[in-house]
Amino acid sequence: MRANIQVLTLKGIPIRVHFSFLLILPLFAWSFGQSFQLAARAADVPPERLSGHPLLWGLGVAVALFLSVLLHELAHSVYALRKGGEVSDIRLMMIGGVSNITRMPEGSRNEALMALAGPVTSLGLGALALGAHHLLMDTRSFNLSFAVFYLGLLNIFLGVFNLLPAFPMDGGRILRALLTGWLGRVRATRVAGWVGQGFALLFGLYGLVTGNVVLLFIAFFVFMGAAAESRQVLLQSRLGDVPVRELMGPRTATVEAGASLRELTELLYGERLRAAPVVEQGRVVGLVTVEALRQVPVERLVDMAVRELSEPVPVLTPDSTAWEALQEMGKRQMPQLPVTQDGALVGMLSQDDILRGLELRELKESRRQGPWNLGGRGHESPT
Ligand SMILES: [Zn+2]
Repeated sequence: MRANIQVLTLKGIPIRVHFSFLLILPLFAWSFGQSFQLAARAADVPPERLSGHPLLWGLGVAVALFLSVLLHELAHSVYALRKGGEVSDIRLMMIGGVSNITRMPEGSRNEALMALAGPVTSLGLGALALGAHHLLMDTRSFNLSFAVFYLGLLNIFLGVFNLLPAFPMDGGRILRALLTGWLGRVRATRVAGWVGQGFALLFGLYGLVTGNVVLLFIAFFVFMGAAAESRQVLLQSRLGDVPVRELMGPRTATVEAGASLRELTELLYGERLRAAPVVEQGRVVGLVTVEALRQVPVERLVDMAVRELSEPVPVLTPDSTAWEALQEMGKRQMPQLPVTQDGALVGMLSQDDILRGLELRELKESRRQGPWNLGGRGHESPT
């Protein structure tokens, strides 16, 4: 099932909506609608100043809130792109928005400013809305003026909440950037991660006590996210300077792009391979996997060429780093990749090869430093 639907593209960034967003929208509309009624009652508003159904107003505020979240995320993403980062997409989901930054801009100063861009946008939007509310105070429609006021408060809350140092939320990223110059990136991430998980536990407790489901989800994602990013940064520091040549396995049999799938089947099963590099005139042009082959009906094995099943692969040389290789494997969901030199196959590298190399390295280090090191090979130079 595809959980994310792409709705539009802004500045080249695909905007996707997660199905959980569609669940929460009516809930928000209903809850906001209630607030409209409560506010009108509390302020003793005469009925002629109440225009439209409170539920519709609630829906309006809910939609405007998610547009505000989108602007918050766009601020992060546009800043990242401008500073040489890469963004794969922005996702709107039940717990808010997420910018998928596939490559961070260089330097902790840029990272801090990128994190800051979102909350600053929210606080700015909040201030604008509250200003507009001030101008609309005497307007005939109480609901219009209340909607603008409500939206202002929600944006201020969004800005302040995201500034909490709950890594990997924005404030936590700023904290990590501040700590990086002092502790190095690995330890800074670890400390920020601990603070983040502490906040996650607080959010979770508060969510349980108040029955706030959204907060419970946020607690879960912050907790898991903090652990995942700590691991990620540790991996990056461990693998960032290990060349692929140290970990790769020997070259395997290859298959010609023009060969039939029958020949491919014989090769894969004969050599017990999960994948084979596809070559054309001696150069690697792609990779073909057992999984792809399984999708093809038996009667097509004779007349279909390997070329039609071949998936493009990134250029990985013996000098590429294991970290680059691991990222490419994740991005393309390929557990192994061919290693080439000037286009010709020189070896194969799998996730298992990388993990084995990592384990050996960790073992070597634990022998050298004892079990109580905080991680990383000492300090990295502050960026
Ligand atoms: Zn943010």
